[in-house]
Formats: sequence, C-alpha cells, structure tokens
Amino acid sequence: KRIITTENLEEDIRIENNLRPQMLCDYIGQEKAKETLKIYIEAAKSRSESLDHVLFYGPPGLGKTTLAGIIANEMGVNMKITSGPAIEKPGEIAAILNNLQEGDVLFVDEIHRLNRQVEEVLYPAMEDYAIDIMIGKGASARSIRLDLPHFTLVGATTRAGMLTAPLRDRFGVVNRLEFYTEQELTTIIMRSAKVLEVEIEKAGALELAKRSRGTPRLANRLLKRVRDFAQVKYDGIITKEVAAYALDLLDVDRLGLDHVDRNILLTMIQKFQGGPVGLDTLAASIGEDAGTIEDVYEPYLLKNGFIQRTPRGRVVTERSYHHLGISVENLEK
Ligand code: ADP
Repeated sequence: KRIITTENLEEDIRIENNLRPQMLCDYIGQEKAKETLKIYIEAAKSRSESLDHVLFYGPPGLGKTTLAGIIANEMGVNMKITSGPAIEKPGEIAAILNNLQEGDVLFVDEIHRLNRQVEEVLYPAMEDYAIDIMIGKGASARSIRLDLPHFTLVGATTRAGMLTAPLRDRFGVVNRLEFYTEQELTTIIMRSAKVLEVEIEKAGALELAKRSRGTPRLANRLLKRVRDFAQVKYDGIITKEVAAYALDLLDVDRLGLDHVDRNILLTMIQKFQGGPVGLDTLAASIGEDAGTIEDVYEPYLLKNGFIQRTPRGRVVTERSYHHLGISVENLEK
C-alpha cells in the first residue's frame, strides 16, 4: 500500500481527530484563507447571522475538513458531515437540510460529485433557505415551499473546475488551499508530536516535513510511522538520522516522491521520450485512474517542477532527470 497517498486511510481516522486544530488560532499556515475567514466570521457574529456559504478547493489532506470544523467551532454551532457521492436522491438532501438547526454548518466533501437532481435542491436552499417539494402526481401535482433554518454550507472539492457554474456562484466565499511550506509543516509536526507525546528533535521534524509533499495529512502519518521505528530501535526519540533512515526504508525519498511518482516519471521518460503525453495515455500505461493522477499525484509533481503541463500533454522536466539520475542527454531525443 502506498504510504504517501494523500487519501484518508483507515489508520488516519483515529489520530486525525485528535490532531485536528479546533480554532482558527491553532490552524497553521493558509494565511490568506484564514484572514478571509476571520473577517467573515467576525462580521457574521456581530450581526448575529449565519456565515455565508464557503467553498474550499485544493488537493486532499490540506485541511479542508479541519477548516469546516473550525468554522463551526468559531461560530458556536454544530456541524453535520456528508459527501457528494453519499447523497443519491433529492429526498435525502432535503431531509438533511430539514434537520439542521439555525446557524449549523453542513459540510459536503467531494461536492463536485453531487448528482444533478440533488444539486438542484441545493440552489434554493443556499439562496433563499427554502426547498421546493412536489406533492401529488400527474395533473394534481403541485410544489410547496418549505422554509429552512439559516445554515452555512461548507463545500470541499479537489477539483473546482468540475463544479457547475450555478453551484459555484452560490458560494459567497471561495478559498483555494495551498501546499504548506517546510517551515509550516515542521510546526505542524512539532505540534502533533506534542499531542501524541512523541519526543522529536527540530531537525527530525524538518526531515519529515521535507518528505511530506506539502501535506499535513502525510506529515502526521509519516510522524506516526517514524515514531514506531524510533521506539523499537532508537530510545523513542526522533532525530534527523532516525527520520531519514525510517523514511528511506518506507521508500519515501528525499523530495517526498515514492515508487508511484517515480514510476510516472520513468514511464514518461522511457515510453514517451519525456512527453508530451496525454493524461489518459499515461494513466493507461501505468494502470492508474486518470482522475487519481490528476487530483492526487500530479499537483505535487507540477508544483515542484518535476513535470509541466502543455497544450499537447504532460512533459517531464530536467529536474526529474536529475532526480532520477538519468543522463540529461536523454532530453535530446
Ligand atoms: P482535507 O479535508 O483537505 O482532505 P483534513 O482537514 O482532513 O484535509 O486534514 C488532514 C489532517 O491534517 C487533519 O488530521 C489535520 O490534523 C491535519 N491538518 C490539516 N491542516 C492543518 C493545519 N493547518 N494545521 C495543523 N494540522 C492540520
């Protein structure tokens, strides 16, 4: 199994809930999103109104769910959690909406995966805090309007581009989450270590941060794995050496790439002369789902200059050749 997958693994769920910051002031990084939210939250509270609907987008594991929880905590309301693929029928979303209390946060993960009919229930719900329900059949059918409590929809998606325009337009606040810096991840790791009562040196935390692909979920998972190594082999203290040793064994390299990433790069170099290669072709030749490549693997490779996107497809950069130790001559095909 891929240790550096940013998907939520079973093993994460328990520790993630312990490690989640509860208030805005504990949430590290994402200064732009935090600043915007702070202003909107204060304004809503001072008017005793519910917060405007908020959309977060960006790669998995960057803290979208965490921020939704923080919004609820800061507003002093409850949060209900659901996800796009979990809601199949319009009646299901209507029931969820109808059960909310005044001011509540409804968090919808993977909101781009809502089906059309369900989405259409959300339009009047978001705009007018009401839903239209059809009663009766055939000629006697009529629709009645049901008022809802004023709630805040917090949507999360890895692909803002897949949201329909009418849905996207109904969010008053739209925030893109960014990959974290090494410094920020180091701070997150030191904080998590404290919560988990793990002893870690700053240099150890930095080593973990460097290999966490800018992603807190991964940073926390790697911390947990490395802790086990440290306990068994090194008096329980995570030093730079322990971190480096353990991560090498776990096949997470100096720059946070693992065998899947390297396989993507190597395939592009060996089978496609470094590209350009189309997403679907690439996906087929490494046996991965195109959507997964686009959402999960590629953002980090793009951000760090291992690959580039061109109109004709993806190309491997010189940096990848260096990192994989492949002679740059290969660039001149
Ligand atoms: P997403 O919803 O974007 O997939 P989550 O909100 O579930 O990501 O975050 C994954 C984990 O990373 C959480 O357990 C949380 O503890 C941690 N995390 C995310 N963002 C931060 C942050 N800014 N500061 C500290 N920990 C964070």
